[in-house]
Amino acid sequence: MQKENCIFCKIANHQVPSYTLFENEQVLAFLDLSQVTKGHTLVIPKQHADNVYDLSQADAQAVFAAVPEISRALQQETGAAGMNILSNTGKVAGQSVSHFHLHLIPRHDKHDGFGAKWEVHNDDYTAEELATIAESIKNRL
Ligand code: 5GP
Ligand code: ZN
Repeated sequence: MQKENCIFCKIANHQVPSYTLFENEQVLAFLDLSQVTKGHTLVIPKQHADNVYDLSQADAQAVFAAVPEISRALQQETGAAGMNILSNTGKVAGQSVSHFHLHLIPRHDKHDGFGAKWEVHNDDYTAEELATIAESIKNRL
């Protein structure tokens, strides 16, 4: 289903042009207009899903199945030393377009424009607390 006024639905339906790299029945990959590094790519399901919570298993499989081949092509083309693959979910995590997408960002070095800083809090949780957290989450699956 297409969502009205969704820019990525419009791109998926070719109503809005994009620099398309890959396409099949379920998936489209195209260059992000804001290139964090050369080759920065978005991979989306053609079916609208707001975010990962909303994503069907079939579309998740289709999107992730396309990622290795696209990543290899990006790596070969850009000579990248590495790649960050991420999805922002929710405003707090930096999501600005509410249609699920994976970012594929070729990486060259620590100063190439991409930064994801996180602090580790290993000391904040005891082994017992981690076991309780894991058990609670497991019970929801
Ligand atoms: P988010 O911030 O939601 O994780 O990522 C959304 C991305 O979509 C941004 O990096 C932004 O540059 C990209 N974007 C937004 N509008 C368009 C568009 O019309 N075409 C393309 N190719 N990328 C877009
Ligand atoms: Zn959409």
